[in-house]
Parts: sequence; structure tokens; C-alpha cells
Amino acid sequence: MTEKRERQRRVLRKLPPLEQLLRGSLVVRFLRCGKPGCHCASSEGHRATYFCVTFPGGKTEQISLPAELVPQVERGIAAYHAWWAAVEKISALNREEIRRQRQLRKRSASRSPRSRRLR
Ligand SMILES: [Zn+2]
Repeated sequence: MTEKRERQRRVLRKLPPLEQLLRGSLVVRFLRCGKPGCHCASSEGHRATYFCVTFPGGKTEQISLPAELVPQVERGIAAYHAWWAAVEKISALNREEIRRQRQLRKRSASRSPRSRRLR
């Protein structure tokens, strides 16, 4: 196996399952419910967690999250970033490969100008 293929495999092996992927972010807000006598009036407020995603054109979708769904959403967001990082790494390796092949071609072309004319 070529070095590039091995490096690509290494990048791909570390990826979380694609089906976990979730684009968006977690937002935590502290809210005051307004009930008289509630502790939130004198504290930072009730912690509320949302999953937010923005679409082209600026439309935003927001889902209020119960605490038990937060780890699943965090895994999904981490998977999204891991896949994008992998796309960048694979792309960089392929770019290197294109440069290397281009260099090889240049070298062989300058070494045998006759074979180039024959093609
Ligand atoms: Zn309250």
C-alpha cells in the first residue's frame, strides 16, 4: 500500500460513525421563570440547553433539549467536526499527491523530449 493510502486509512479509521453526524451547536441559557418565590429570582436562573442550527439564508432552528439528550447531541456535533476535519486531511493528502505526480511528469518530460513528441 502506498504511504498516501496508509495515511488516508489512518484518518478514516479514527472517524465516528457517519450516522451520528449532527450539524449545529449547543447553546446554554439561564432563564428566570417569573414564579414568585422561585430560587431563580435570586440565582443565575434555570439552566436551559438548546440545539441550534442555522440554514443558508439565515433561518435558524432551535430545539430545547432535556438533559438526557445532551450527550447524544454532543456526540453528533463532535462527529460532524471530525468528518469535516477528515475531509480537509484527505484533501490535503490528495493535493500532495497531485503535486508529486506533476513533479514526476515534469521530470520525465525534460529527460526525454523525444518521447513527448511521439505521443
Ligand atoms: Zn424559576
